[in-house]
Amino acid sequence: MAKEIKHRSNGEILRISPVFREKPWGGKRLNTVFGYTIPSEYTGECWAISGHPDGDCPVADAGRTLGQIWKEQPELFGNLPGDIFPLIIKIIDARENLSIQVHPDDEYAGIHEKGSPGKTECWYVLDCERDAEVIIGHNASSREEMKRMVEEGNWSELLREIPIRKGDFFQINPGCLHAIKAGTLILETQQSSDVTYRFYDYGRQVDGIPRELHIPQALAVTAAPFAAEKTQQKIWQQEGARISHLVTCRYYSVYRVELQGETKLNFEYPFVCVSILSGCGTFNGMPVKRGDHLVLTANFGELCVSGALEFIYSHV
Ligand code: ZN
Repeated sequence: MAKEIKHRSNGEILRISPVFREKPWGGKRLNTVFGYTIPSEYTGECWAISGHPDGDCPVADAGRTLGQIWKEQPELFGNLPGDIFPLIIKIIDARENLSIQVHPDDEYAGIHEKGSPGKTECWYVLDCERDAEVIIGHNASSREEMKRMVEEGNWSELLREIPIRKGDFFQINPGCLHAIKAGTLILETQQSSDVTYRFYDYGRQVDGIPRELHIPQALAVTAAPFAAEKTQQKIWQQEGARISHLVTCRYYSVYRVELQGETKLNFEYPFVCVSILSGCGTFNGMPVKRGDHLVLTANFGELCVSGALEFIYSHV
């Protein structure tokens, strides 16, 4: 490290290397906006911080993945129980609409998906086209009505479409029908689970084969009628920074920081996930820039951040 600055921190900063997933609805903005080397022009997902076996991120200079470190050095994550790093941070580039989907809760997934956790997720809209929308929830008054509308393919009446703008934030609980729609770039914080039930996929085919749907499971787990989840953002200013608390639920808390200058944050958590959305600066003297993803280890203590930066951080 170039500079010899003493910081009152007991923790380490792990640099996480993303892994990428091609998707029929994906695009190339993970390259054009974040500068990542992507596998193709159909790259839908950047798994930015993940220890999930379907996308286990390498940790720089460690020669190991986040999933391996989670198992081998649990003390770095406050000896949290569980055999998998509990959060996944993704950046999603939706060039086209994603399938209409729903996720189960822990209880349903535990019984029906070999003990997998369920999936609670939340979205921070990094960018979107004018008139972009997402789907959150539905307009059926009961499960029977929902089933009938699904069978009739009456999607236009069933689905609850919501206009979005850059900077919007949405919490998606299990049982909430949802879809990210075309022209949207989103940072997603979620439980470490890959269990998705698709209601509808616009008749899309991959290699000549329609993508699999899971209508019985989707109908079983979707809450009816839909009840909107209210999240209340709390915003505060401190020296050099404006901090927005976006959500706290059973699985995670998520915050957004806009920094001009220098500030100090104090982290006493099992770990903290950080994703740099724009700008450049330093974290305890270490250079960081747009597109970097970091994990701060257990009871990290004081983090001195400087620069012109926007970042999202989350903890369990
Ligand atoms: Zn989802």
